Amino acid sequence: MEIYLDANATTPVLDAARAAALSAMAEDYGNPSSIHSTGLKARALIEAVRERARKLLGAGNGRLLFISGATEGIQTAVLSALHALRSRREAGDTSAELLLYGATEHKAVPEALKHWNELLGLSLQVQAIPVGRDGRHDLDWLRQHAPRAGLVCTMAANNETGVVSDLAGIEAALQGSATFWLVDGVQALGKLQLDLATRRIDYAPFSGHKLYAPKGVGLLYVREGAPFTPLMAGGGQEGALRSGTENMSGIAALGAVLEALQDGKSFRDHATLVRFRDRLADALREAFPGLVFNAPLEQALPTTLNFSVPGLASRLLLDLFDAAELRVSGGSACSAAKAQPSFVLQAMGLPDEQTASAVRLSFGPAADEAFIIEACERIRVCGETLRANCLAPGGGNLPLPGNGISRYLLDGECCWLVADADKRQCVVIDPLAGLVERLAQQLRCQGYPVVGVLATDASHEAACEALRAAVPELLAAPASLVRQLPLSQGRSAWLLGDERQVRVAFIGQASVEELGTAVQPATLLAASRDLDNQITSTPSSQLAGPSTPARSLDPQSLHELLKAHPDALVIDVREPFEQRLGQAPVLEPAVAIEAVPVSRLLNTLPAWLAMPAERPVVFFCRSGNRSLVAANLLKRLGHEEAYSLAGGLALWPQRTPAAADPALYV
Ligand code: PLP
Repeated sequence: MEIYLDANATTPVLDAARAAALSAMAEDYGNPSSIHSTGLKARALIEAVRERARKLLGAGNGRLLFISGATEGIQTAVLSALHALRSRREAGDTSAELLLYGATEHKAVPEALKHWNELLGLSLQVQAIPVGRDGRHDLDWLRQHAPRAGLVCTMAANNETGVVSDLAGIEAALQGSATFWLVDGVQALGKLQLDLATRRIDYAPFSGHKLYAPKGVGLLYVREGAPFTPLMAGGGQEGALRSGTENMSGIAALGAVLEALQDGKSFRDHATLVRFRDRLADALREAFPGLVFNAPLEQALPTTLNFSVPGLASRLLLDLFDAAELRVSGGSACSAAKAQPSFVLQAMGLPDEQTASAVRLSFGPAADEAFIIEACERIRVCGETLRANCLAPGGGNLPLPGNGISRYLLDGECCWLVADADKRQCVVIDPLAGLVERLAQQLRCQGYPVVGVLATDASHEAACEALRAAVPELLAAPASLVRQLPLSQGRSAWLLGDERQVRVAFIGQASVEELGTAVQPATLLAASRDLDNQITSTPSSQLAGPSTPARSLDPQSLHELLKAHPDALVIDVREPFEQRLGQAPVLEPAVAIEAVPVSRLLNTLPAWLAMPAERPVVFFCRSGNRSLVAANLLKRLGHEEAYSLAGGLALWPQRTPAAADPALYV
């Protein structure tokens, strides 16, 4: 069962909300603008939901409009404020020079400011309000700039860190300024008491899907008397402020959520949520020694925990959690080759290592005790899995003897570890400064004497020295696990295998021409840079040039392929820690699965390439990305029958219920 801990991205739909939406679709399906009885019923429903929202948000005499979601609300508010600023300017008031937004604001806000500023020809200066290390706005800065501001945008609570803004402090800083004030209430809905009308807030947008309503419905609060310009003109719905036939099922569902908020039965109170948060925080600290929280918990929503485990990339943690069926999100958006650090954490002044390893865990206020207990248990298992795979930077790792070639990748740069279990020896080739700690940890878990820390060129020498210094107890007299092939300008390649059959050549950045006759057409070439995630090539594949991409199979095509080829190989290319935690696909007809992580493909490629050409090899992983890399590689190296499972395990209809059954694997 999945444990969904990404509520700040979106939530599931509350049962009562689903029922209300279905009823609005099936029974009360009227158009609220119609004057017949069916229409009147729909109108009554809308107004009842609006009244409920008015009470819950403390909207007083302000306007509450039903909209599609916060992004629309933000556009409408920004357009309204900027249009009013233009009128003020035309009337001779030029005091507004700045459009200000919190540096950690959701992208929708600065993008809307820039968009409408340009479209309305205002040319005001769009500027970020700095935040402190605690994620809160710099109120002194705001006080200084407020007199020149035309619009100030500050969120009530941050989506990445949960940091709750000091709205009273912001309001005080705006005193004396004629600026408009937008408060993005998206993450506060149902979690903070807002009492909108008691403040000078002009606009506050909300999205239903962040609080158990479906996507596509939201609310915009507009203070009584605040300027308003419709974003959408048309049939005059919502008092002509927002035209377009109302999203009745969405509004009905939102109404059911608001009702649940009022009756207090479905949602936990603040103290309970704090208790849940503390349990999760304890479980995280215990599972990942050295973990740091990226925002002070006591100033954040109790439903959001943003943390980093120094030394562990957020991508690895995300894969680990996902394999344990714990859905969390990166504090940073990850791209395939290079992690993009979170601008929110950067704005808070966190060091790069911390932003690159951030993870956000968020739950909704409808979470119950059993859910939190299960989440804590899975977090514990994740910690255990890290230690069993020698990945815990905080220590406590278990011994992990290794064999063969493993690749370590950092921002497109590769380092190689070659271990020989029979000889109990290993060498490291082209270590990287950013990987020294990780490699040292791996070498200690492996426990083999290190008979070489080798470089293909001088750029790796410093990292070689650092690695040697990190594991002095493991350094042994040089031994010939790999052979040196001197190249020009002091560079080298390192060859594995005997002269007649070099299995692998670690070539650094040398070209195949430089290797000359020292390698054979089928020698696997392992480079020290791999920005396109090619993993390896051979002299003959380089000669052959590009090949067509491998095919991705949907479940039905895979079923047919396995029926036609019972000898097909099915390979799980996820990392061992994911395989240990994760599920495997239930294949029909049943076929044994081989576990070969992408980082260790070089060990098995020669055997696969030696198989009969018609024997299919199907790779799978979590999302279909890594398996496609592996399938393309095998195809490029000459085995045409290479496939990837489309969409990976995430889209696979049937999976083993618990951790991978060892019987499924060969
Ligand atoms: N504001 C905040 C704080 C958010 O978290 C989000 C969504 O992530 C938005 C605005 C945009 O909401 P939507 O995508 O529902 O329009």
